[in-house]
Amino acid sequence: MAALGFRLRLTLFVVTTIVAVQALTAVLVTQITRHQLIAEGGRQLTMSANTFVNQLDDISARVAESVQVLALDYALRAAIAQRDRDTVLSVLRNHGRRVGATRMLMIGLDGSIQADTAASGSGLQRFPFPELMDSAFTRRTAAVVALDGKAYWMVVVPIYAPQPVALVAAGIPVDDAFLARMQRLSALPKDIQLIAQTRTAAWEVVARSDSHIDLLGGLSAAGHPLAEQPVLETVDGREYLVLARALGDPRAGAPVQAIIGYSLDDALRPYKSVLSTWLGLLALGLLVGLAGAWLIARGVSRPVEALAASVRRIERGDYSAPALIDREDELGQLAAAFSTMTLAIRQREEHIRFQALHDAVTALPNRSAAEAAIQCSLHEHDSGALLMVGLTRMPEIIKTVGHALGDRLMRDAAERIREATTRGVVARASDTSFLVWLPEADRTAVIALALHLIDVLNPPYQERDVSIDVVPAVGIALYPRHAADTSELLQRAEVAQFAALRVPEAVAFYDAASDPHRPGRLSLMGDLREAIAHDDVALHYQPKLNLRSGVIDSAEALIRWQHPKLGPVPPDAFITLAEETGNIHRVTRWALASAIAQLQRWLAQGLNVRVAVNLSARDLHDPELPRRIADLLTLHQVEARWLELEITESAVIGEPAAAIQVLRELAGLGLHVAVDDFGVGESSLAYLRKLPVHALKIDKMFIQRLATDASDRMIVHSIVELAHRLNHRVVAEGVEDAAALAYLGEVGCDHAQGHHIAAAMPADHFASFVAHFGTAPSAC
Ligand code: C2E
Ligand code: CA
Ligand code: CA
Repeated sequence: MAALGFRLRLTLFVVTTIVAVQALTAVLVTQITRHQLIAEGGRQLTMSANTFVNQLDDISARVAESVQVLALDYALRAAIAQRDRDTVLSVLRNHGRRVGATRMLMIGLDGSIQADTAASGSGLQRFPFPELMDSAFTRRTAAVVALDGKAYWMVVVPIYAPQPVALVAAGIPVDDAFLARMQRLSALPKDIQLIAQTRTAAWEVVARSDSHIDLLGGLSAAGHPLAEQPVLETVDGREYLVLARALGDPRAGAPVQAIIGYSLDDALRPYKSVLSTWLGLLALGLLVGLAGAWLIARGVSRPVEALAASVRRIERGDYSAPALIDREDELGQLAAAFSTMTLAIRQREEHIRFQALHDAVTALPNRSAAEAAIQCSLHEHDSGALLMVGLTRMPEIIKTVGHALGDRLMRDAAERIREATTRGVVARASDTSFLVWLPEADRTAVIALALHLIDVLNPPYQERDVSIDVVPAVGIALYPRHAADTSELLQRAEVAQFAALRVPEAVAFYDAASDPHRPGRLSLMGDLREAIAHDDVALHYQPKLNLRSGVIDSAEALIRWQHPKLGPVPPDAFITLAEETGNIHRVTRWALASAIAQLQRWLAQGLNVRVAVNLSARDLHDPELPRRIADLLTLHQVEARWLELEITESAVIGEPAAAIQVLRELAGLGLHVAVDDFGVGESSLAYLRKLPVHALKIDKMFIQRLATDASDRMIVHSIVELAHRLNHRVVAEGVEDAAALAYLGEVGCDHAQGHHIAAAMPADHFASFVAHFGTAPSAC
């Protein structure tokens, strides 16, 4: 609307300016013209009045001369002498016709009327203008007089015989016809009236011109006196300059005056046509001005409106059509600059948006972009699978070779994943992982893709002479089975990916049972703390058979928890949870205390068994552990040699020096250290040689299939041999059948543990179980 306002304002300005200038000019011109016309009219009026008076003088001279001729008429003089009234009247009439007089009078020297050509019965006895008679004897005498309600140009001439005998007065009527004649003879103004003063001293019109303008009426209505100078007055709604002039000798009889009018309106008429032309021109000028102003305003406001519209579009994030205006002027330049700016903003915004939604290294969508895409896809599809592809060795690789090579490696992996994935969304999920979202995918297709991804990522990354294995693992979470929304789906896929690390095919579906993040986990930890505090957990003991002596000379303490609501909770479920939540120290402390106390009881009974307690990797981070164990042993008066600690391979491989130091201190106490689950990790015997390790527990994975699997047999055989060479005892766990037991005996394995011998049992049962086997006098 601001643009319209601008147009309106400009138009109004132009119109107002035009009208104001024109109006001012018009007023000035009119005023000056009028002024000029009044001056000019006054001059003309005065001139006309003078001319008129002069003309009347001429006429009076001519009439006087003709009447003078009459005075010399013999017949008239004889008739006067003979008092022959009829002859006198006849002569007078003849003369009267000649000079245009309608009334001829014969006046006696005493002023009495002796003959009158007027119709009989006018009743005029005496000549009413004695002054005229007096002056007639001395000079030519003529005056306009009013007589019997009519105006006459009265010329009085004495008649001598030879003495004055009478006077003759010729009355030429001063009427409309007279005026018309006068106007014909000279250039008299058309508005003219002759007025005479009646006996009542009032002025009345005796003759008027054709125009029939009542100048006298106008003057008296306006209260103007009869002025000799022109005055301005309005008659019948029209403006006149009016001037009065006395005719003839004012002393002679009743005065007669001529009122002459000069019509300003008439004088202005030529100018009026100029005015109407001027008005026409003004209207035209206005129209052109209006159109011009409108067009100019539009010319300015249109591009401005277009630019404003463009700005509003940019505000909405739409850069599609920047305002391009083909103009050469400043607005064109502005539009061009604006357009360039819009383009720059668009590019910058696109760049920023790309950066915000993409990973800078691989140019794949980043995690938040992927989340949005999955969210979107969940609106459209009822199901889908999220594959979390982790490159598990990445942190280690970056530590070793640096970020630059790490980035190149990630780019290469991204490319491989992109090529392997024909549909769905591929994105970077974290520093070390990618994700693939497959909407509407069935389980088989998902597994196929996951295995394919493992296959394409398995070949090492090659760069010059460097070859790097990334060790991929794929975790899969299904929607809606495993998660209700996107963030849950991502979290579950990550959990599955960690689980995938532990399986040989490196692909795992999400499993709620092994999810450390599953709901209820924290309350489970709370329950565990309670259980430990109230001794609601117990240690069961699984016998270990000495294969040389054939007796049970040791046992592994395994924790058992009977949850009041959940029933028995498997150690695998809560031990890992306790490790992750930092509660493992409590478990270890309790297990050590409980096992050492039990040892003390058994030893006191004469049951000589070495009891192995499981330690978790985190326990080795506790520098207080050796002192605590020493205190417990002292407290229960148990020699250290009866206690064994089982530590998994991963707890000792690649651990910091502090953990190794704790291990050394423990061994220094005189207790035994066994490496648990040996064979599944990456440790080498050569490495273990440097550590204070007394025994190796071959993982049950190798033992369970001894009867059927020749390669397992070979592995177990080699481990036993090598371990013995390095002075380590060998324990086989997971002995489930007699064949395995027999083979272990054959290859010289030291101890066997497994369901085939016995499952873990409460401490109470243990003594009788051992008794059944027979107790060895000494285990060492
Ligand atoms: P582990 O140390 O490898 O313990 C051996 C596991 O194998 C035990 O499971 C035992 O019951 C089971 N087992 C024994 N013989 C056989 C057999 O012939 N066949 C099969 N299939 N399994 C057999 P459990 O008791 O469920 O313990 C699981 C894990 O929990 C243990 O694995 C150990 O790592 C951990 N754990 C148990 N008690 C404690 C504890 O007091 N402290 C710590 N830190 N960890 C414990
Ligand atoms: Ca163990
Ligand atoms: Ca084990």
